Amino acid sequence: MKDLLEKGIKLDQLDELKSFRDLFEIGPGLLYLDGNSLGRMPLKTKNTINSLLDEEWGNRLIRSWNEKWLLLNERLSSKIAKIVGAHAEEIFVGDTTSLNLYKLAFGSLSSQSNRKKILTDTLNFPSDLYVFQGLIQNHFPDHVLEQVKSSDSIHADVDALYSALDADTALLSLSHVTYKSAYLYNMEEVNGMAKDAGSHMIWDLSHAVGAVAVDLNKTKTDMAVGCTYKYLNGGPGSPAFLYVSKELQEKIANPIWSWFSHQQAFAFDPTYHAHEGIQKFGISTPQILSLAAMEAGLDITLAAGMEKIRNKSRMQSEYLIELIQTYLLPLGFLLASPMDTDQRGSHISIRHPEAYRINRALIEPKNQTIAAVIPDFRPPDNIRLGITPLYTTYQELHDTVIRIAEIIRTEEYKRSSFQDLIVP
Ligand SMILES: *Cc1c(COP(=O)(O)O)cnc(C)c1O
Repeated sequence: MKDLLEKGIKLDQLDELKSFRDLFEIGPGLLYLDGNSLGRMPLKTKNTINSLLDEEWGNRLIRSWNEKWLLLNERLSSKIAKIVGAHAEEIFVGDTTSLNLYKLAFGSLSSQSNRKKILTDTLNFPSDLYVFQGLIQNHFPDHVLEQVKSSDSIHADVDALYSALDADTALLSLSHVTYKSAYLYNMEEVNGMAKDAGSHMIWDLSHAVGAVAVDLNKTKTDMAVGCTYKYLNGGPGSPAFLYVSKELQEKIANPIWSWFSHQQAFAFDPTYHAHEGIQKFGISTPQILSLAAMEAGLDITLAAGMEKIRNKSRMQSEYLIELIQTYLLPLGFLLASPMDTDQRGSHISIRHPEAYRINRALIEPKNQTIAAVIPDFRPPDNIRLGITPLYTTYQELHDTVIRIAEIIRTEEYKRSSFQDLIVP
């Protein structure tokens, strides 16, 4: 068993990305495995925000729009485009993932009046399902939402998705990496299936971008949305992005008409004329503080390179599964992520009937000498252990699993003093 610790230490020494950890704020006494919900803060972000406050807002005031801020969206779009394998003119940065999904799904359904089905599966993120339910209820009453079932709640049933794609399907939408089990779809294969059926496809990249290699152009992707505060380390609630392929851009309209989607925002034309490029998906004045906070995280990801990040994520997740098999399965845990590394993103889910209390005991250890561990809990009984290769170490993975085992053996999770939290 000691071998696994030695193996982890050795892998940390050999890790070609190990110096990237130094680019993040890392406090003592905390093992952080929740970068799939909120990434750590790049040290550089503090300087960026401080100088923005002092100089750009504090001193230059409105002059900063011309001097700096109106260039920010374009610069961030081209950086995100590099990370996801797209052209800069196919990426809009701003708003939120759910709002961007709403805009694209609305535009997609409106452009195809003869097809009435939205297809997804039971592994998709609830907020995405709410967006589709709301679109049907409020705007597309003749449409239906069909959800293909995953038989084990871990793997997608791609054959069943294929059978469900028919001449009535307007839109197929899935999370590239599913939020609970981390199942990873073969993007090119699913895009091909959707195209054969004549359906549009929207990927939600929130749990994938910055963690797995994504090449939207090469895989012939129609549309995508994604979040930047998880593996891209953009900061709490940082703006999202959307992608529409050049081929589709003309067909997909933004249902929300506003000055920032107008051909000329500052012409103050009383009549709306939609912008022709990707900027038509804008709505409002860009959120400069949050956009600026995102840039350091993107730069770090680009400097490390997605291929190396994915490679380390694969190795770390395999090491973590080995630890889970050795220490946790004998204590009653189940692995709730795919075993096949090619079918898995960058977090591992485990299940236990006492998952909620185990998670709370990890976060609030009973005494101060024990390092806190932050994973996250997803109902009813999942603990997700997120791996962010830019800063997660192999030893952290080892120590986390040992700590979980200790909580079970000492029954520390039976402590009754946990308070109810809004974010579990
Ligand atoms: C995190 C996440 C979101 C976030 O949505 P917001 O609208 O930005 O809050 C959306 N979809 C998926 C799959 C996610 O993992």
